Amino acid sequence: MIPDFLGDELDNYSLESFLNHIDSCKSCKEELTIQFLIETGIQRLEDGSTFNLSNELQSTMNDAWTRLRLRKRLLKTAYFLQVMVVLEIIAAIALSIALR
Ligand SMILES: [Zn+2]
Repeated sequence: MIPDFLGDELDNYSLESFLNHIDSCKSCKEELTIQFLIETGIQRLEDGSTFNLSNELQSTMNDAWTRLRLRKRLLKTAYFLQVMVVLEIIAAIALSIALR
């Protein structure tokens, strides 16, 4: 999942379990650090900018958590709106029956 994570291609469910796992699994964290270094570090070398591995990895992880929370909130909002629409339809049907 690490390359997918670095490419931001994980869905909400996978992203959440990935982030939780990385927090608690040393060997995966190490693997992530290495792949992150290769992917982002080389890019930085080409840019000629300075690179602080642990800071950058930490902010990448923080961004991922923020993104995950945002996506979940959007899903909840979408769900809420759908429920509202269904309730309105039910209310309209009930009203038309009552007025019959
Ligand atoms: Zn692991």
